Amino acid sequence: MRLTLTQLSTMTLTPRFVKNIPENIEDGVIYISMEYATAIHKCCCGCGREVVTPFSPTDWQLTFDGKAVSLYPSIGNWSFPCQSHYWIVNNEVKNGYKWSKKQIESCRKNDKQIKDKYYKQNWWKWW
Ligand SMILES: [Zn+2]
Repeated sequence: MRLTLTQLSTMTLTPRFVKNIPENIEDGVIYISMEYATAIHKCCCGCGREVVTPFSPTDWQLTFDGKAVSLYPSIGNWSFPCQSHYWIVNNEVKNGYKWSKKQIESCRKNDKQIKDKYYKQNWWKWW
């Protein structure tokens, strides 16, 4: 079942801090493992695919204010058939615009450029 946009915009995720990511994850829960610096949740469009968001300076950053979590940047599931795009802000799922092919391409390129730049600037950290 696909959720409509209005349903999507009022959806919330409950953060659950875990050591290991469980094998079966629940709907509406975002599992956060500091041990592995990663989070996982089911795609908020309702397609049920697992979205893995690793934390790193070039991937996602997690903000936790004691109650709610936010992820930056947005979640763009362009490798999924649903190609959904949304933000997670204070446990709430906010709609992003739907990706066009062109946007996906340029985002992928940008992502690569940011990474290349980052690793070039920080090459000395890797020794
Ligand atoms: Zn989806």
